[in-house]
Amino acid sequence: MKRDTGQNRAITSKWRPATQAVRGGTWRSEQGETSEAIFVTSGYSYDDAQSVAARFAGEEPGMTYSRTQNPTVQMLEERIALMEGAEACRVQASGMAAMSAAMLCYLSAGDHMVIARAAFGPTRWVTDNLLPRFGIEVTPVDGRDNDAWAKAIKPNTKMFFFETPANPTMDIVDIRAVCALAREHGILSVVDNAFASSALQRPLELGADVVAYAATKLMDGQGRVLAGAVCGSADFINNKLLPYQRNTGPILSPFSAWVVLKGLETLDLRAVKQSENALEVGRFLEQRVPRVLFPGLPSHPQHALTMSQMRYAGPIFSFEVEGGRDKAMAVLNALSLIDISNNIGDAKSLMTHPASTTHSSLSPAVRADMGVTEGMVRINVGLEDPQDLIDDLDQALTQVGL
Ligand SMILES: *Cc1c(COP(=O)(O)O)cnc(C)c1O
Repeated sequence: MKRDTGQNRAITSKWRPATQAVRGGTWRSEQGETSEAIFVTSGYSYDDAQSVAARFAGEEPGMTYSRTQNPTVQMLEERIALMEGAEACRVQASGMAAMSAAMLCYLSAGDHMVIARAAFGPTRWVTDNLLPRFGIEVTPVDGRDNDAWAKAIKPNTKMFFFETPANPTMDIVDIRAVCALAREHGILSVVDNAFASSALQRPLELGADVVAYAATKLMDGQGRVLAGAVCGSADFINNKLLPYQRNTGPILSPFSAWVVLKGLETLDLRAVKQSENALEVGRFLEQRVPRVLFPGLPSHPQHALTMSQMRYAGPIFSFEVEGGRDKAMAVLNALSLIDISNNIGDAKSLMTHPASTTHSSLSPAVRADMGVTEGMVRINVGLEDPQDLIDDLDQALTQVGL
């Protein structure tokens, strides 16, 4: 096993992100395979006992056990780090393993963190229920309000955490301003970039310290595997995240790592095309339903901010129909092309009712505070012809009397 020809960081780190997505981090065996190899192995054997000891001591390169490292997994980690422009990256078994690892590896009892209130449901479960059990205090704020972040800071504030665009209300956080505020106060800023991916938004370049992913979403992009990733400085990844991850074990399987590696090769194409399709579908819905929450559209109050920090606004947005939960569910049931599914980032168009699915673990009060209404529907726009998606939505709305 050796790095692909020319795969030394001095050269590869100069490649642009779209090149990294196809080539970054590739290792090749003596067979010279063009597609990355899958190493389905839990252990490794050694020439002699001394070299095992040297590997365990970190004095010799080489792997010791797949909870600590695996060649296929390492290829993915190097590729994501190069795409992201991060010093280092580690991948996890799911997006939630990534989010919880980023928090738990860094925070201790007595610390305080601030989170943008509009967040993925399980992320809020971790911050509302799990962290307080370990003496970590959490303040949710309206992530769109820069002053709210400033006002929430306490002497023991250690972390800012937010996603942008946020699920499912599509709130946008001003990455530059909020991360600059964090840095000023010695607070670690962590951005969940799952809705955008590095193809559309590059938080580290905008001042974030750590970027975390559900690689399940746009990075796999075809709805196949769950995966997570955390990117940041070598110090954060090697000294905080890695000891946590190696000892608690939320690691990614080599097979899933391989699937994501292959997904990354088409990430740029998919993210751009799905974003363009989403704009077409969004423009149609604006004429058809009372409210569309899509920062990619000029009608969105945060459109200018969005376009100042994103290349495209992504494939996911929400809209509201009149008639609450019953009508929202009726629209889903009337679809004939778009699938009812709570996943996102897939090349297939998918729709869900967040209040009864992705955000059902939250109390009605928390949902209301986040702006998740009963009539809200979220759509992931895929790679189908957008006119077919528009036709499907139009007939579904008509069928239920909207
Ligand atoms: C899906 C998602 C997660 C969680 O990822 P899993 O792979 O499902 O665990 C976290 N954050 C955001 C924004 C997501 O969309």
